[in-house]
Amino acid sequence: MKKLELIYEGKAKRVYRTEDEDFYVMEFKDDATAFNGQKRGTIKGKGELNTKISAVFFEILEENGVKTHFERLLSDREMLVKAVKILPLEVIVRNLAAGSMAKRLGLQEGTKLKSPVLEFCYKSDELGDPMINAYHALAMDLATKEEIAFIEETSFKVNEILSQFLIKKNIILVDFKLEFGRFKGEILVADEISPDTCRFWDAKTMEKLDKDRFRRDLGNVEEAYKEILSRIKS
Ligand code: 5GP
Repeated sequence: MKKLELIYEGKAKRVYRTEDEDFYVMEFKDDATAFNGQKRGTIKGKGELNTKISAVFFEILEENGVKTHFERLLSDREMLVKAVKILPLEVIVRNLAAGSMAKRLGLQEGTKLKSPVLEFCYKSDELGDPMINAYHALAMDLATKEEIAFIEETSFKVNEILSQFLIKKNIILVDFKLEFGRFKGEILVADEISPDTCRFWDAKTMEKLDKDRFRRDLGNVEEAYKEILSRIKS
């Protein structure tokens, strides 16, 4: 599928139109940012690793009945995706307290949550993606009531599917962020699912195998992403 003009460039990805209006090409970059763009860097090989890691997760979700925008890999850092209209909502699901939740609620990082937590954030770089609830999403017309119910149900289903898959690879799915898009009357899981958007901890050592290594200057960032790909491929 031929790549036509660039229609979106974000911190970690570029999206191009194609000859077919139903499909986009999504290209993954090595650029890394954190703290709403205040910390910038490059993680060598990240684009390629996140392309492959996301493809594995999207395929597992599809096999388990969750519809995603993923069509197929085109190259080491490009995938063909359905031309969804991304909703301005981020959905975060958490199994253990970490990151902003641990900080906000004064919980020790790694505290097991009695039940998974779902949070919504309003996608806005200027505002720093503030947390909102379903009432805000409805009031701001970000999604319909039916779409919100579907997104909540699907996000918990994604959590079940990926947590069960990952624990067999000795990886704890601590938390993750999903984005959804509208496509021909349906809501699909979109964007990416990778160490940029999830927290993955080694189940034995609790070692961090995700973007927190970059955010917190822990070193061995590329190695951690490679480790995730190699475990989920095995
Ligand atoms: P936290 O709210 O603790 O910073 O993030 C919770 C989870 O969602 C983490 O796995 C984190 O990687 C992901 N996440 C939340 N917001 C963003 C975002 O704007 N970009 C990316 N790449 N991941 C995010």
